[in-house]
Amino acid sequence: MNIAYIALGSNISPRESFLKDAISLLEEHEDITVLKKSAVYETAPVGYTEQNDFLNMAIQVKTELSPSLLLEYCQGIEEELGRKRVIKWGPRTIDLDILLYNQERMETEQLTIPHPHMHERAFVMVPLADVDAQAYLPHLQQTAGEVLGLLPSEEVRSMSKWGRIQ
Ligand code: AMP
Repeated sequence: MNIAYIALGSNISPRESFLKDAISLLEEHEDITVLKKSAVYETAPVGYTEQNDFLNMAIQVKTELSPSLLLEYCQGIEEELGRKRVIKWGPRTIDLDILLYNQERMETEQLTIPHPHMHERAFVMVPLADVDAQAYLPHLQQTAGEVLGLLPSEEVRSMSKWGRIQ
């Protein structure tokens, strides 16, 4: 049994439905069980800023899938929910990133785990620490809670709790 953490983000209406649908599709897979969901946060876009605000959250799953099969399934969900890759870092119906998979570290052409920029981004670390502050980032040898404490506090404060998905 493997424990993985997945970040979800959406900034195209209806954002909440995209998050909900993505979670339902993950739960539909017989080899994936969603164990915990973070609160949903509203965040301003990073990078390409001429776009709508995002809803971001993180979930903890247990899975029998390998990292690459989990990625494949997540990409299938992105396809199914109609994400269009028009602008890099631009608007998206739903984005699924695998943050952590057990304590593993891996780097292939398709997949880097832990996700390479996760520790720099409040919109990833705030939801992750909400799901599990003890989640361990093996490349930094720190927990999610510790990493969150190192992020600029104004960035962390700029994220507002938007609600929860049942
Ligand atoms: P993005 O447009 O940010 O969703 O990036 C998608 C690309 O990132 C895909 O081609 C994936 O193969 C690659 N990728 C690398 N590492 C990861 C990861 N940990 N989770 C999700 N996608 C990843």
